[in-house]
Amino acid sequence: MKKAFISALSFLILSSITLSLNSVFAKDSTKSLRVATTVPPITNIVENIGGTAIEVTGIVPNGVDSHTFEPVPSDAKILAEAGVIIVNGLGLEVPTIKLAEKVKKPGTPIVRLANDTLPKEEWQYDFSFPKEQGYPNPHLWPNIALTIQYAKIVRDQLAGADPEHAHTYAANAATYIAKLKQLDQAIFSCIDTIPKNNRKLVTYHDSFAYFAPRYGMQVIAAIQPASFTEPGPREIMRIITQIKREKIPAIFGSEVFPSKIMEQIARESGAKFVDELSDDELPEKPHPSFIGMMVNNIAIMTEALGGNPDCGGNVDTSNLTD
Ligand SMILES: [Zn+2]
Repeated sequence: MKKAFISALSFLILSSITLSLNSVFAKDSTKSLRVATTVPPITNIVENIGGTAIEVTGIVPNGVDSHTFEPVPSDAKILAEAGVIIVNGLGLEVPTIKLAEKVKKPGTPIVRLANDTLPKEEWQYDFSFPKEQGYPNPHLWPNIALTIQYAKIVRDQLAGADPEHAHTYAANAATYIAKLKQLDQAIFSCIDTIPKNNRKLVTYHDSFAYFAPRYGMQVIAAIQPASFTEPGPREIMRIITQIKREKIPAIFGSEVFPSKIMEQIARESGAKFVDELSDDELPEKPHPSFIGMMVNNIAIMTEALGGNPDCGGNVDTSNLTD
């Protein structure tokens, strides 16, 4: 018994030595902090603030529906190797977070940017994200004041996990936040060019719930139901009537969520259907960046609603790592 105990003990000691040796070697072979992220806008924010000091892997591919995304087995490896895991939260990446909790290293934090940015009283529930289902609208990032909070949290979390590069993260964040402020101002001046009566949004995917109140827009309707299917005929009729009554010139879809229903609503209400907004798919041009995505959104929105689309022209859409 005793002998068995001792040999079990020495096995334990030996394996813990091997483990710590492994981690020493692992540290030497990978010099930079590994960060796992989820949706492309968050991946891009983290890339800009981490710069060359970190290695970022975004788990949700660009152009994929992030709301129904399920991680694949290779994502478990990415999450297991990460020193920091940064997600949006507010119910957006539930399967990925569950997997992360299972496989991550004990010391690796899971940072939920939206939960850390907005107090519970300010979470929004609506048609696509009803309170009964328990998950609020998670799209904080089109509201640039909230994105600036995201950037600050990312800066502090990276510095916490890798204090040696804290100054790099602080300097990159300062540059990036200055660009975000420029974007924020550009959005205000774009909306300013839209006739007051047209500052209304009808979108398919419900991603402008936090954007609208900041910039003086009103979300009249989001058409996609909570099940991510199509709305029923009665709801469609209600929306068509409302678009006609409010004389809304354009309604918006996105390439990630193609919908025949939107074409029907546009045809019957007389509004123009603009199928090009994006809440998490980064564009190719002018730069594959979150800021570039928002500049495109605002130009598309402003033009379709009767404003001057050149309003966002001076915003620097480049990435720090381009
Ligand atoms: Zn979305």
